[in-house]
Amino acid sequence: MSAQMLMQPKQQPPVPFVDLAAQYRTIAAEINQATSKVIEDTDFILGREVNLFEEEFAAFCEAGYAVGVDSGTSALELALRAYDIGPGDEVITAANTFIATALAISHAGAKPVLVDVDPLTHTIDVAGIARAITQHTKAILPVHLYGHPAHMAPIRQLGAKSGIIVIEDACQAHGARYEGKRAGSLGDAAAFSFYPGKNLGAYGDGGMVVTHDREVAERLRMLRNYGQKEKYHHLFRGYNRRLDTLQAAILRVKLKYLERWNAARRFNAKLYHDFLEGTGVVTPAETPGVESVWHLYVVLSEHRDTLRERLVSRGIGASIHYPIPIHLQPAYKDLGYKQGDFPVTEGLASRILSLPMFAELTSEQVQFIAETIREFMSADANRQPSSKVLSQAR
Ligand SMILES: *Cc1c(COP(=O)(O)O)cnc(C)c1O
Repeated sequence: MSAQMLMQPKQQPPVPFVDLAAQYRTIAAEINQATSKVIEDTDFILGREVNLFEEEFAAFCEAGYAVGVDSGTSALELALRAYDIGPGDEVITAANTFIATALAISHAGAKPVLVDVDPLTHTIDVAGIARAITQHTKAILPVHLYGHPAHMAPIRQLGAKSGIIVIEDACQAHGARYEGKRAGSLGDAAAFSFYPGKNLGAYGDGGMVVTHDREVAERLRMLRNYGQKEKYHHLFRGYNRRLDTLQAAILRVKLKYLERWNAARRFNAKLYHDFLEGTGVVTPAETPGVESVWHLYVVLSEHRDTLRERLVSRGIGASIHYPIPIHLQPAYKDLGYKQGDFPVTEGLASRILSLPMFAELTSEQVQFIAETIREFMSADANRQPSSKVLSQAR
């Protein structure tokens, strides 16, 4: 080996943000068998696999009923419609969420009312909800962001006191727990997404509404299927928003592995936490009584943009969720919010960085990412942890 070679840093293979192919390789035979069966049976629309997956997913969520739909956005919108929420109504949600949460409220005909988030969990601020409630408020829509449940106990109390329903946006939280209970069983209803990159992801779009209420589940079954209970008898103007049978067959296979995959994510989060100690980036943590499923692993840095460039230049897929808050998006100009309205959300938007996170991520990969961050942070004295940043660590 020449001296030149010894001095070169070891070339590391790239680490994608998420590696769906790695996961598929571990279950390919089962998936191919399940999809072939649906095709051979030509059981495409609301087939047997949809029913079975709904039963299994409801049981997984420790809830009574589950109704499969075509996306997480549809799950949110139809959940609101199932409670007759529409024009003239207000729905309170977090300023720091994926745009789909607000879009679903708008598409139901209601008005999204945004509330800032808690700087520690990045989930909706409970005191802010209390201040935002008006006589028009019909629902609170907390988001279990990054797989970490929102502060559901005080939110439920607020809802009960004001006669307002609570719908969980659990699109990032399949399997998460709050005070021992599963996401999906913590409110009146909950919406899940099976977008491919979610903790439980289909090979296309899909979604689910979960509820304890049998009548709400019945309405949802009609809402997703042209407003009919019996074929060609239409009680109201419903939609075509069904979960595809092929996707349900795939999701049934994957649901069996979800606990294992979530445990691997939890393990990887712990590794990140340990490897990143003392680097000066703020690492995320769980609040007591919560079991996050780590859909995303989001760190904070004052040097986010240059840090991200460094990671990307080393082949590490670092990303931002979400770079522009909803109230500053052109799509929501008409809500009348302005810069400065949600200081915590706005502050996070310039500091958050999502590191690669998936079940198949190896310890060596996590270590490589952490070392790349440590090297970047220690190269410049200005990047060393300040007491201000440390005080925000959780
Ligand atoms: C993914 C996601 C949605 C939307 O789900 P789709 O299946 O993509 O429609 C809604 N809310 C949150 C928080 C999400 O992460």
